[in-house]
Amino acid sequence: TSQPPAGLLEGLNEEQLAAVTASDPAVAVIAGPGTGKTKTLVSRIAYLVQERGVKPSEITAVTFTNKAAAEMLERLEIQFGDKRKVGRMQIGTFHSLCLHLLDGDGAPVALLDESAAEDLAAQVLREEGLRLSPRKFLEEVSRRKAGVEDSLPAGALERYRELTAQAGALDFDDLLIQALEQKLPQKKAKAFSYLLVDEFQDVSPLQYELVRAWNAGGKSLFVIGDPDQSIYGFRGADARCFARLADDMPGLRTIHLKTNYRSTPPIISCALAAIAGEDGKERPLTPHRTDGAPVRLVTAESALAEGIFVAKEIGRMVGGVDMLEAQASSGRGEGGPVRSFDDIAVLYRTHHEARLLEKCLRQESIPYVVHGREDFLTDEKVRGTAAFFRALLRPGDGLSLQQSLSLLWNCPADLAQSAGAWWKEHGQGMEEGIDALLAAFENAGHLRQWGALTREFFPRCAKESPYKLLEDFRLACGLNDHPPLEKLTHMAVFDKKMTEFLDNLALGTEGDLRRAAQKSYQSGAVRLMTLHGAKGLEFPVVFLWGVNKGSLPLVSSRHPTDPAEERRLFYVGLTRAKEELIIMTSSEPSPFLAALPREHLQASMTHVRKAQEAKQMSLFD
Ligand code: ATP
Ligand code: MG
Repeated sequence: TSQPPAGLLEGLNEEQLAAVTASDPAVAVIAGPGTGKTKTLVSRIAYLVQERGVKPSEITAVTFTNKAAAEMLERLEIQFGDKRKVGRMQIGTFHSLCLHLLDGDGAPVALLDESAAEDLAAQVLREEGLRLSPRKFLEEVSRRKAGVEDSLPAGALERYRELTAQAGALDFDDLLIQALEQKLPQKKAKAFSYLLVDEFQDVSPLQYELVRAWNAGGKSLFVIGDPDQSIYGFRGADARCFARLADDMPGLRTIHLKTNYRSTPPIISCALAAIAGEDGKERPLTPHRTDGAPVRLVTAESALAEGIFVAKEIGRMVGGVDMLEAQASSGRGEGGPVRSFDDIAVLYRTHHEARLLEKCLRQESIPYVVHGREDFLTDEKVRGTAAFFRALLRPGDGLSLQQSLSLLWNCPADLAQSAGAWWKEHGQGMEEGIDALLAAFENAGHLRQWGALTREFFPRCAKESPYKLLEDFRLACGLNDHPPLEKLTHMAVFDKKMTEFLDNLALGTEGDLRRAAQKSYQSGAVRLMTLHGAKGLEFPVVFLWGVNKGSLPLVSSRHPTDPAEERRLFYVGLTRAKEELIIMTSSEPSPFLAALPREHLQASMTHVRKAQEAKQMSLFD
């Protein structure tokens, strides 16, 4: 065989090399955090194309989030130096791949976004007199659809299905189910010849079926993951999928990677001790790095003191901002490299916990970005606007019409509903549809502005850029000063077609959105995200926020959690750090902290002066 081009296989260790070049029809790479699983997957794609002559159009890579997909694309583009080649590969999440599969033949897929699904869920709960949050209800629905045990009362799921069917829309699970039921046409099946799946430990049973189905006529299946980082059990994912795959595919070759290239030895020692706290088993994971500062465990007098400490400490690390108590109490002196804001992430268990932290960061003028929590997407006008355009692009989408009428024009529920139903039935030919609808609901003043705007935007919406359309729409309905809509418009800058934008919008709320990975959107800022959201990522400096009893493991009456899964989540958090890891606790410490080896820890307390705390407090109120 010819010599691989310089750089392609260079620097890979023996096991990574074996994984990258394996020619077995099915390969599983099972390995701990930071061992280069994702890197191996990317290298394998490059190897397949450049060395084995595989066509880019025969490759599909499944990532867990849209953000991960965007990052993979970026790495491949660098590797290939040719955007067109990379563009022919299919790279995306299960949901975006399914949407892509279903779209294009026959009627476009109407996707029920999270808020719309929650509305329907709320309706079911009201009708059935159930006391459950819509979100929790949808989680249970998901479990049921994935064939996992659930606790739904009889009838509720059926009613929910009835409503989604009436709306003519698919929710996220239906999307997968439909894609699974549909037989892959020859032409589309080709794209799955070489199928690669990252974060395999978190696939749901339904997604597992999809992997099997997509691989059925294919040439190669390559899955990678780490059962110790399985953190989506609450959604029906099951790390036993590796064992299942070994059963289902007797020829499966399993490769283990053992060298961690990400973190310093103290970080790895702490992480390994934390995860071993579960079952006492030792994991084979050796650091490639040879030295590093101890992990810091900082106890704060209060959550506010914790926030002040984090903000001041970040300020100190980037070498700006005055150094007050925080530094003196860090016990670490002025050493350490100067960081940029991008180097630093603060991770927490739930978004809710970020509020106080945000205030403290603002107080210190520290730039930050919150990932994955897009409050403005749940804004009524934003949802209404998206629904307005969806109804235009999909004549007959009654649900979207109904939503836009009630959200944008405060149309009474029954009128919006009957207009929606009418639209679904008669809305096919748009122009006549508008006239007929207006005539059918003669006295409905609520429909008048809708009619005028529909006339204006219908001819434009398939042709013009979403950015321009949204700009004009905001003006036209007098919502120019509505900040959430402004954000929505800003988001559209990157999309060329309105349909594309709306799909991304609907898919994006499922986890995180492609736009979150748009670099220009946010450089030079500290990243704030949940532990779930940090999966697969790495940062030179990581603060773990609020590692307290009750927060980790999370104790919640509304969302029962699994302590073992919470421990894995903690493990995911610890292993995101490359060089510096600072674990923060304020009230009672998390029981997980007991497992951390003292010799690798440096414990300290914050001494944020009471007076200072009081001053900050008054500034916040
Ligand atoms: P996670 O389980 O957290 O997803 P992972 O196993 O996917 O981790 P990667 O993100 O692929 O790990 O790699 C971790 C880091 O180690 C990256 O910065 C990567 O570039 C680096 N790395 C991986 N393999 C090597 C290698 N052979 N030589 C040098 N650096 C490497
Ligand atoms: Mg990875």
